[in-house]
Amino acid sequence: MNSPEAVVNPGGTAAAIASPVAAKGVNHIGIAVRSLDEQRGFYEGVLGARFECIEEVKSQKVRVAFYALGPTDNPVRLELLEPTSPESPIAQFIEKRGEGLHHIAYTVSDIAGRLTALHQAGVRLIDEYPRAGAHGSLIAFLHSKASNGVLTELCEPRRNGNGPCTGHAA
Ligand code: ZN
Repeated sequence: MNSPEAVVNPGGTAAAIASPVAAKGVNHIGIAVRSLDEQRGFYEGVLGARFECIEEVKSQKVRVAFYALGPTDNPVRLELLEPTSPESPIAQFIEKRGEGLHHIAYTVSDIAGRLTALHQAGVRLIDEYPRAGAHGSLIAFLHSKASNGVLTELCEPRRNGNGPCTGHAA
């Protein structure tokens, strides 16, 4: 197990040394798929997950389906990502590695401050600034090399509304 200090520059700020991310929990698990429709049988029929909604994230050229498991007020969510174009990062991922586990997203507060602290700590980032994710959240990806091969997303949920499908105009 790595201690939090393992990725932190000892010359960083006090906040960075404590933990630049300070993850509050797992927000969701991202899974790359060729077709959302083809997955419903498995996630609903076999796993018994609750289908929540489908949303298009144009900046990433993906359609995203959310499924929830467990308590309705604090579920574990699965985010299935279907490319809408061959240029989508998800299309490129599937081309190289096939369908499957794509990323793990952690809930954070003050995502912009987290990214600054990570940058100062020398952690490789894909996104140095937060961008719009699904359901009105702010997201940013760490480079998979910074997290030992696991693509890692930080997710700051929209302030009013903890569900992914509440009142978002996709
Ligand atoms: Zn995600």
